[in-house]
Amino acid sequence: MECRIGCAACCIAPSISSPIPGMADGKPAGVRCPQLTADNLCRIFGRAERPPVCMSLRANEEMCGSSADEALERLAEWEQLTQPENKSKEPLIRPCGAPSP
Ligand code: SF4
Ligand code: SF4
Repeated sequence: MECRIGCAACCIAPSISSPIPGMADGKPAGVRCPQLTADNLCRIFGRAERPPVCMSLRANEEMCGSSADEALERLAEWEQLTQPENKSKEPLIRPCGAPSP
């Protein structure tokens, strides 16, 4: 799919660990990237300072859903699921019939 211009969910919901101009230690989850313009475009698109993770990200239906709200919701959920404290817990999908922890 094509990225929805002006959506910016992936510039807000996830944390980014690499430095971004204006956030030397990276970006916390749920915080607007300082490089987002008021109309939700990337101010440093195509420039070397843009984090590699941003350059490699591609829009896809599983992540982006059908609206910015849906993408924000999904990305926030993924952010939670990939937190270190959750990674060490039970697998997210248990075999059929497996008892709950
Ligand atoms: S969440 Fe998807 S549609 Fe929205 S800005 Fe990111 S890549 Fe584009
Ligand atoms: S650097 Fe650009 S693409 Fe990356 S999160 Fe910030 S605004 Fe989005």
